[in-house]
Amino acid sequence: MNHWPGLWAFRRENASGAAVKNIAERLADVSSHHGPVLATVDGYDVIDCEVCGFRHVDPLFTNEQLKKFYETEFYQSERPDYFERMEADREWWMLRYRHYYELIEAHAPGRRILDIGSGPGYFLDAGRERGWQVLGFEPSRAAADYTRSRGLAVVNDFFCAASAKEHGPFDAISMSMVLEHVRDPIGLIEEARSLLVPGGLLFVASPNDFNPLQMVLWKKMGFQPWWVNPKHHLNYFDTASARSFLLARRFQFLHLETSYPLENFLLAGRNYVGNPALGRECHNERKAFESALFLHDKERMKALAASWAAQGIGREFIIMGKKPA
Ligand SMILES: [Zn+2]
Repeated sequence: MNHWPGLWAFRRENASGAAVKNIAERLADVSSHHGPVLATVDGYDVIDCEVCGFRHVDPLFTNEQLKKFYETEFYQSERPDYFERMEADREWWMLRYRHYYELIEAHAPGRRILDIGSGPGYFLDAGRERGWQVLGFEPSRAAADYTRSRGLAVVNDFFCAASAKEHGPFDAISMSMVLEHVRDPIGLIEEARSLLVPGGLLFVASPNDFNPLQMVLWKKMGFQPWWVNPKHHLNYFDTASARSFLLARRFQFLHLETSYPLENFLLAGRNYVGNPALGRECHNERKAFESALFLHDKERMKALAASWAAQGIGREFIIMGKKPA
């Protein structure tokens, strides 16, 4: 209940280019993924992959399975109330997004941004109001139409560097709630990197999974690993693996913070797992908490976000890296 998948990106197997070939070769060698099994949910294992350096579902779904799921099922059957909920959360998202842009503007060499998996397009709205030249990539037709109806530029397709190239290069590329959905996050980041100018920024927000508070609830307090949802989430990053992931992709580390630790509610006895009504209530309280601080004491909010991240806790991580000039 805590985050609304702002979506995903998806790579095409038939795209051209040397980097792409390497990615396809790596994917073909599925046996190369190995590591201890951390959890098994709905028959799918999540491994701590020693090859990739982060946790992911094993074996991976095929591209065809993923494409079909996102194109035909995701909004229609899985998230029928997606837009209604996004609209209800809009003010809170805009506070968060303005904060994100402040982080980005402190380092960005220019004002052209690509948002991969732009969902309903609020992040593009926030950029436009600050004078950014914005472009979204969004595979859902409904989400892309909704974005376009406000006069924003969006490509209604899965992201791939080959088709994004004509619109670039970019001073910043963002992806919110994308990395956990894609079959090949390494390939996605490499492709994004190729579209950045020297000194350009990569900005990633994703769930902080297998975090210390979740582990207490799972290993000590009888909870199941509720955050593991193989059909929606293939990859499970945390603050540490996100940071090493960025460094391994040759980005210079700039910033890490996390959002409100939603597990606080569970630790306090308000078990929202499998209880959507209570989940919504907790989500609203979390929004109220963050919004109050963003509005009235932003420096406190930033300090809290940094200190949560320093302990590895917080529901989502926000990380930013720079492509060396
Ligand atoms: Zn792997």
